[in-house]
Amino acid sequence: MPNLGLLLWDERLRAYDFGPGHPFQIRYRAEAARNLGDGAASPERGDRLASSGPIEPASRESLSRFHTAAYQDQVHEFSARPSGSYLDGGDTPAFPGCEVAAARVANAAVRGLEAISEGRFRRAFSPAGGLHHAHPDRASGFCIYNDVAVAIANALRPGGPYRRVAYIDIDVHHGDGVMYGFYDEGRVLDVDFHQDGRTLFPGTGAASETGRNDGSGLKVNLPLPPGAGDGTLVPLFRRVVPPMVRDFRPEWIVLQHGVDGHAGDGLGGLEYSDAGYAAVLDTVLELAQEVCGGRLLVTGGGGYDRHNVSRVLSAVGRRLAREEPETALGTPEEEPWVDTVLRDLEPALGRRFPSE
Ligand SMILES: [Zn+2]
Repeated sequence: MPNLGLLLWDERLRAYDFGPGHPFQIRYRAEAARNLGDGAASPERGDRLASSGPIEPASRESLSRFHTAAYQDQVHEFSARPSGSYLDGGDTPAFPGCEVAAARVANAAVRGLEAISEGRFRRAFSPAGGLHHAHPDRASGFCIYNDVAVAIANALRPGGPYRRVAYIDIDVHHGDGVMYGFYDEGRVLDVDFHQDGRTLFPGTGAASETGRNDGSGLKVNLPLPPGAGDGTLVPLFRRVVPPMVRDFRPEWIVLQHGVDGHAGDGLGGLEYSDAGYAAVLDTVLELAQEVCGGRLLVTGGGGYDRHNVSRVLSAVGRRLAREEPETALGTPEEEPWVDTVLRDLEPALGRRFPSE
């Protein structure tokens, strides 16, 4: 029986490191990868998660499908300098070797695309990835190259494997690099749950931002107020995502699974729990099975509490290694914000999202 899932990990991904005082710590994700490699996803128990082996940096050609040549030149130049400068206004430090480190994270997602589109795996998981703030021409928010956007752009390239991709983002921060990168693009459905931009970086992602030109109506933003938890995320996710994805009929789904919406995160103000994340992932897995043969790439994302990140990302990998969940999931009690969010979203998109 072929392997179900592919774990995209190479210890050299740990080089994506801004230093000990920085909130972004790749070692939290490395812990999850180690857990999965060390038997948390064990073939003896019926788990099917293969390891990718070495992952090389993305080529310039591959990166160029999303990032400008001038920006790649800038990253190249900064990568050769000693530490101490920033690639953006002060969030994303340059460091020696940052070019290769960022290109390796990007290629993990591209390798996931290839493994799935060539039919070797149905699911792939890149815990190092989800660097959704990087724009075509600039770094932002701890993100140098945008691995998810690079993979989507590679999927849609002339002669590429897919013509329609659904991107779903549950990071506490709005995935601005991906959304604006494909804002006019009719081949990308983008659904993004995040803490309201009036209260958190990067400030974008209002419900009124719905896409432009061919992309009109295909960019779906659900800003949630600080304090919202599973009782907002899960009901909204189940009402909005399946009908949007069914109508769009993607050939591939990408899920940016940031963990910084978890209660207790150092940067975010949302209150999701492990059960809320599990419910969302199960919904996506069912939907992928229904609409696109189960083809799904899941990446990490933000996450600034060590234990939350390593535990939740380990659970993601274990779930991707199995056909069925280990335990049935309940439904959280609905919070009043569900209606508040829909009151802005439904008129913006011109459609209703009734409860089942
Ligand atoms: Zn984030």
